[in-house]
Amino acid sequence: MKNYDVVIIGAGPSGLFTAININPNKSVMILEKMEKPAKKLLISGSGRCNVTNTGSIKDFFKHYGDNSNFLKHSLNTFTNQDLIDFLYSQGMKVVIDKNGKAFPETQKASDILNILLNQCETKKIDLYINQEISRIKRSSNKFILKTQDEEYLCDYLVIATGGKSYPKTGSTGDGYQFAESLGHTIVEPKPALSHVKIKNYKFIDLAGVSLTDIEISLYRNNKKLRSHVGDIGFTHRGLTGPGIIDFSRFLDSGDILKINFASRNSEELNKQFIEACQKEGKQSIKKFLKNLFLPERLILSIVNELKIQPEDQLATITKQLRNKLMTSFCEFSFEIESIGSFDVAMVTSGGVSLKEISSKTIESKIVPHLYFVGEVLDIDGDTGGYNIQAAFSTGYSAAKSISSDN
Ligand SMILES: Cc1cc2nc3c(=O)[nH]c(=O)nc-3n(C[C@H](O)[C@H](O)[C@H](O)COP(=O)(O)OP(=O)(O)OC[C@H]3O[C@@H](n4cnc5c(N)ncnc54)[C@H](O)[C@@H]3O)c2cc1C
Repeated sequence: MKNYDVVIIGAGPSGLFTAININPNKSVMILEKMEKPAKKLLISGSGRCNVTNTGSIKDFFKHYGDNSNFLKHSLNTFTNQDLIDFLYSQGMKVVIDKNGKAFPETQKASDILNILLNQCETKKIDLYINQEISRIKRSSNKFILKTQDEEYLCDYLVIATGGKSYPKTGSTGDGYQFAESLGHTIVEPKPALSHVKIKNYKFIDLAGVSLTDIEISLYRNNKKLRSHVGDIGFTHRGLTGPGIIDFSRFLDSGDILKINFASRNSEELNKQFIEACQKEGKQSIKKFLKNLFLPERLILSIVNELKIQPEDQLATITKQLRNKLMTSFCEFSFEIESIGSFDVAMVTSGGVSLKEISSKTIESKIVPHLYFVGEVLDIDGDTGGYNIQAAFSTGYSAAKSISSDN
């Protein structure tokens, strides 16, 4: 039976970064069930790896839904700039896009992985692939880990098994079972950072059209729950784009999304309609709606849906029809049929309950010397580099805590 000070289950970014930050006076082993480490990291950012974001660290806290408080300590201890500096120290500059997304200058996720693997080698960390942990037992202050034909023993255990999305990469939610078997609570895992399918979708013809800075509001049981502004895109079955994808952690089947295409409320648009009608009642609906600077295909789709002819004159529109027009442009309702499944969602919302984990050390409050890092925790960030940064920052905090323990 192999015996180590620290065993890390999972060779994703969180597991690898934890390993290389543990004081070398501790023996460290990483066990990875796939035939290669960090398969998800390799496909991140379409193979370019959006490793972090250059926004202020304060701004980061707006990008983890309702769970950002937990991350404050870790993100302040190992910041986005620390990550950029670390990569620079390993010979890798980053390039930044207009939204602050940072990528390795080589635009290759594999180069980020190579940096992590080289560090593992330099620091003499044992990394074993094809080692799927199936069971964990706690006995006499030790953890006993079982694979199909091996047993490992350790004093400190780090669970870095990721979430449940893109299961082909190896992230199949095993960490949730391990956590439960050790007494932890799991917040129901759900697909997040995903597109949505819309019930009775009428905009198939608009597939590929996208809109910037659109107000999106979420309604459940006729109650407005939250709203935000983001870019949206139309697909063949529903909606996508960062504004929808970042919002998906809050969404459920049956929810209503109200989209304000007009960038103004319906009272304002109504007033503009009446003024335009008084000035030039013969003006066509199509000409009036051009002022909204929306793609013509979208305007025509909405107008057709209301059985209005684009060339109809403003003065011929009844008050009732005008109200419908206002609602369609300022609060178009889409009923969600479903959220993209774990096969297509980029991350998992839910996971190991944060109430049972110390936000300073990332150590379990239930089992001493047990740590959960990265996406296995009930943490999911927006698109833009926030998830990989969270994986690195939580890994760093756990590593510092393990290192400081004698
Ligand atoms: C298509 C896609 C693109 C993405 N792009 C970005 C991006 O550009 N920027 C960004 O910030 N985030 C991105 N993400 C999210 C980001 O990749 C993840 O949040 C991040 O990889 C999580 O890291 P992790 O180490 O916690 O878990 P993972 O990367 O999921 O790694 C977990 C590892 O544990 C292993 N494992 C699981 N169970 C066991 C077991 N029983 N025994 C042994 N090993 C096990 C798995 O095989 C896996 O290698 C993307 C995700 C996807 C799917």
